[in-house]
Amino acid sequence: MIKVTSPDLMKINNKKQILELIYSEKNIYRAQIAEMTNMSNQTITNLVKELLNEGIVKEVTIENKSKGRNPMALSINNENICSIGVEVSVEKINVGLFDVDGDMLVDRTYKRQDDIGNVLDIVKDLLEQVISYADKKRILGIGISIEGIINSLSGLVIKSKNLGLDGVNILKELEYLGIPVLIKNDVNMLAETDYGKQLLNNYMLIKLDSGIGAALVLDGSLLKSSQTVGEFGHVRIHSIDEPKQCECGQKGCLTTEASITAIEKKSGLFLESFVEQYKSGDSRIRAIIEDVSRYICEPLINIITLLDLERVIFTGKLVNSLGDEFIDSISQYIDRSINSFSSYKDLKILKNVNVIERCAGYVFYDYFLNWREHL
Ligand SMILES: [Zn+2]
Repeated sequence: MIKVTSPDLMKINNKKQILELIYSEKNIYRAQIAEMTNMSNQTITNLVKELLNEGIVKEVTIENKSKGRNPMALSINNENICSIGVEVSVEKINVGLFDVDGDMLVDRTYKRQDDIGNVLDIVKDLLEQVISYADKKRILGIGISIEGIINSLSGLVIKSKNLGLDGVNILKELEYLGIPVLIKNDVNMLAETDYGKQLLNNYMLIKLDSGIGAALVLDGSLLKSSQTVGEFGHVRIHSIDEPKQCECGQKGCLTTEASITAIEKKSGLFLESFVEQYKSGDSRIRAIIEDVSRYICEPLINIITLLDLERVIFTGKLVNSLGDEFIDSISQYIDRSINSFSSYKDLKILKNVNVIERCAGYVFYDYFLNWREHL
């Protein structure tokens, strides 16, 4: 229930509600808005007029031959609204400007090779370049995905692997741009932009990459009560013969055995050659991956049972590279180990995700559909 305590708030609430309907219905008539809300026709006329003047909304004609000429419908003004997505990962920094239909208008990428450079300066530079392509007033926001442990509310990066951003407050650093910024850990950003598609209430998204992270959707919402929730890479694996020291201070964490970094160390090969040998059936590499699957499955079975998860979704570069066979072996392991009264249904793969498109899409989602959280 929304508590509206002043005429101003009431107006913002009504305006946002109209925008939400126009965004989710694509094309809608004023009369339909009146039917779907309890606002008076006069209120709707006035607020729509404001939205038209602001350029957020436009009038469109919908052809209907049988009924002759229809009144003008309303839709989001695609030419006047855009958002920016930013991916900050160990490999690259990618910034793109998107319209409300998800089409990319311009992008800039910085590949991080030997010379790591100052990540924050690069992000600022790429953002400034991309922003210069649009009327700043029309950019609804910037959505940023960062590999690491992030406090999304304050914008503070607690721990970022090899990015040199520990202790940096991204929201404060980007304040000078004058555009709202939404920041999330990479896995949470994926989960936030994905759960509408899963149509399930309880599931876990796991990213297997140079590090390992996870996001949990429980009772239909992303679990975000703590900044380190979903640190699947730091669950302890007890069946490891010689537990290795982890950066978190403990020994024998999953990430010390099953991350790309760990597999590269163990095999003495970079990912590309490692994957080649795995696919050609090399027995040493096959054995390493069998161990990796087992280490992932041991804690995963317990989490599925404890939270009664319906689905597990895997994503990340290790999943993209090793392909279906690797994921099938994990799926079979779960099927063999799960108890008979569990709600667990299946395992899915999320391959080759366009992260900046997701981030830009999250800005639209937050602006048009998630506004009640900010009232
Ligand atoms: Zn650890």
